[in-house]
Amino acid sequence: MAHIDIKENLGFVLSQIRSAEKNAGRAEGSVKLLAVSKFHPVSQIEEAILAGQLYFGENRVQESIEKFPAILKKNTGVHLHIIGQLQTNKVKKAVEIATCIESVDRMPLLMEIEKHCAKIEKKIEVLFELHTAEDSKSGFADLQTLEEAVKFVFDGNAPHIIPKGFMTLAPFTDDEEKIRASFKALKHASSILNEKYPCNMTELSMGMSGDYKIAIEEGSTEVRIGTAIFGERDYSQQGAVAK
Ligand SMILES: *Cc1c(COP(=O)(O)O)cnc(C)c1O
Repeated sequence: MAHIDIKENLGFVLSQIRSAEKNAGRAEGSVKLLAVSKFHPVSQIEEAILAGQLYFGENRVQESIEKFPAILKKNTGVHLHIIGQLQTNKVKKAVEIATCIESVDRMPLLMEIEKHCAKIEKKIEVLFELHTAEDSKSGFADLQTLEEAVKFVFDGNAPHIIPKGFMTLAPFTDDEEKIRASFKALKHASSILNEKYPCNMTELSMGMSGDYKIAIEEGSTEVRIGTAIFGERDYSQQGAVAK
């Protein structure tokens, strides 16, 4: 495989983000970059850290606990976000290493996160994931179920949970209008819920390698980018995380 220049890729992606902010009339620096390092080795994550990257996303807890404890110990200021569907029995380990869980998609998960955070006296950031694309399975099904979760936290039932905002996955399609509709739906839900439950849930995590410019036009505050930084993922290596 050709050598991937992570520093160069990061620089390119960041410059693209900055120009997308500008084109959309948004303040410079209003969009944060989450580098999605799933399936990529610790050595590449270290390269990204050396190039100045501080926020990383992983979608599996098992892989996260193989890779991140040492990284986090060595590099203060580096943060891990969990972005993939989270099984309840993985929550204990997830809350130990993550700063933020972006994929909160059901009430029992929310309660499990609160329970384990209470035990270790840790506060954790969460994003509520909304299902906005036909072909994706994850996320609260609709505004109503999403609202129940937000209200639960707003009413003080989960004191270790810091609600930061919302997350979604756009459909995997070339149809720009469908992608845009998905991002608009998240923004709409966020506006409604922030008005009803004012607790500063300003984060909108939306946009990946293929669609982040559209996401920034639609108000994204965090783009989750893997391929454009680290290259293609080698799924044949599943489970075997190279160090
Ligand atoms: C893998 C993944 C990404 C990054 O996808 P790329 O297309 O490689 O940028 C973003 N968000 C989630 C939830 C993911 O699982």
